[in-house]
Amino acid sequence: MTTDAQLGDRGDRSEVGVDARPEVRVDARPEVRVDARPEVRVDARPEVRVDARIARRQERVHILTGAVCNNNCVFCMEEDRDGRYVTNSATNDDTVRWILDQSRDYEEVCFTSGEPTTNPRLPAWVKMAKAAGARRVSVMTNGRALSIERYAKGLVAAGMNRFYVSIHGHTEKLHEGLTRTPTSFVQTVAGLDVISSLKRYGVELHTSTVITKRNLPHIGEIYRFLRGHGVDQVVLNVMQANGRADTHFEQIFPRYSEIAAVTEAFLAEQATREPRVMAFLVDIPLCTTTRLPDFNRGYVESYVHYEPPSEGHALLDAELAEARRAGPDGGLVQIRRSDLDEAARQKRAECARCKYDGVCEGVWGNYTKRFGWDEFVPVAADAEAVAADAVPDRASVVR
Ligand code: SF4
Repeated sequence: MTTDAQLGDRGDRSEVGVDARPEVRVDARPEVRVDARPEVRVDARPEVRVDARIARRQERVHILTGAVCNNNCVFCMEEDRDGRYVTNSATNDDTVRWILDQSRDYEEVCFTSGEPTTNPRLPAWVKMAKAAGARRVSVMTNGRALSIERYAKGLVAAGMNRFYVSIHGHTEKLHEGLTRTPTSFVQTVAGLDVISSLKRYGVELHTSTVITKRNLPHIGEIYRFLRGHGVDQVVLNVMQANGRADTHFEQIFPRYSEIAAVTEAFLAEQATREPRVMAFLVDIPLCTTTRLPDFNRGYVESYVHYEPPSEGHALLDAELAEARRAGPDGGLVQIRRSDLDEAARQKRAECARCKYDGVCEGVWGNYTKRFGWDEFVPVAADAEAVAADAVPDRASVVR
């Protein structure tokens, strides 16, 4: 989100120009296929501290859309490709219609998991979401299919008004070294350019860059590259220590303290170039980022999704899985993001003294088993006054 888009969470940006969509028909299929990326979002309202923003976040609904993916990211959390294929293939017109009927109070309908643009029903489902009254309809994508202008325009014409594009470097070598997919860089960048050209129709363009040991030294260059291609908000997304990120942990996973230090230096340097830096660090315990400007501290949104019980019950005990039964014929289970957090993240006793305890989701068990708890020092209630004062006022917003 640009700062506009952050305000858009209160309703102003995403409503601009939504009725002035291009007159194009959805008759183009993507010629490329894409991959799974982490669940990233940021909502950094400049006037509200990060813990307050987290506490008041609204729930979104995710629709599992892509049975397959055409990238092969080294850090993908969806390591079980066969399981994902089965789970996401179960999403059909009936389940989407049912989910939309349940979701009228959600702030956003997001098509995600696998590569959503590989699903030929995506444009039709976007149209259904718009018809159901969803104010914000979004997709998490590697953006390769968006390089086909006719396809991208079709999504916008159907009602898509926010795009989260995953891109992990500012060069072909860096990006494709992580996606392990030749030609992915040029297609993703072309996709950014196409969506950027459609912003006059009220479309928001965000990116997600998964932070690894390889791209961390280049986050300033990546940020400036993406902003140069019209990106409103650059999200620096710390990996979930699951799936392939756990498998390749020693090779790719930086320590949180290193990520925080490099990001702090980048933000300070970038702040000399523009009044408001539209980069946001997300999915990292807040006790490790107290030296960052509060404005640039993001978080992962709260969401629910629905999936067949054969896959979903692994996160839930039998009684809870039964209580969460859902779907047009009871064949789905509601899964909340917090279910994954509770299964795979931990806190320690000292966390009870931390001002962020109430909004903190804890630390991945797969992280602490490698690095321990030394980095996670409880934050006193009156700490961080300096960081808060460093948040620029809204008059200096970059649009
Ligand atoms: S609750 Fe614990 S892990 Fe979370 S921010 Fe505080 S000290 Fe860090």
